[in-house]
Amino acid sequence: MGTKGIEIVDMDVRKLVGLLNKAFSDEWLAYFQYWIGAKVVKGPMKEAVIAELTQHAADELRHADMLALRIIQLGGTPVNEPKEWYRHSNCGYEAPADPFVREVLEQNIKGEQCAIVTYKNLVNLTMGKDPVTYNIVLQILQDEVEHEEDLQAEMEDLQTLLKSGAKK
Ligand code: FE
Ligand code: FE
Ligand code: MG
Repeated sequence: MGTKGIEIVDMDVRKLVGLLNKAFSDEWLAYFQYWIGAKVVKGPMKEAVIAELTQHAADELRHADMLALRIIQLGGTPVNEPKEWYRHSNCGYEAPADPFVREVLEQNIKGEQCAIVTYKNLVNLTMGKDPVTYNIVLQILQDEVEHEEDLQAEMEDLQTLLKSGAKK
């Protein structure tokens, strides 16, 4: 840990590490939710949805990596016990019990909306107080906003397709 790097953080570092660990736990659960969703998903537009879910899984894993590095820089330890992810998580995990493409998209849209709120709060909290963490959580927020939009666009296409099918 860099002593000056920590000294310039104008907030309770332990509390900040705790919040970053909550987000870190969310990211692992989100990663797995996308990863398993991409394996089991069924229905129309399956190929396009699999491509999107797979890309998002990679992004969530990258977010976990960014957060882990920052937690370590701040002298903390990333949650190193997977069963603890549930306890720390803000957004939880929803198993794709129904693999129909609409249900999987719905679950992941809900997850992204929770992630957007989580990172908006972290952006507000670190603004002007910890520019390094601020920059990280802002980058992640931008990705989560894009994720939500991508999934809602897929959902829109799916609804159109389902409607046109119903008219035939
Ligand atoms: Fe993420
Ligand atoms: Fe996301
Ligand atoms: Mg995408």
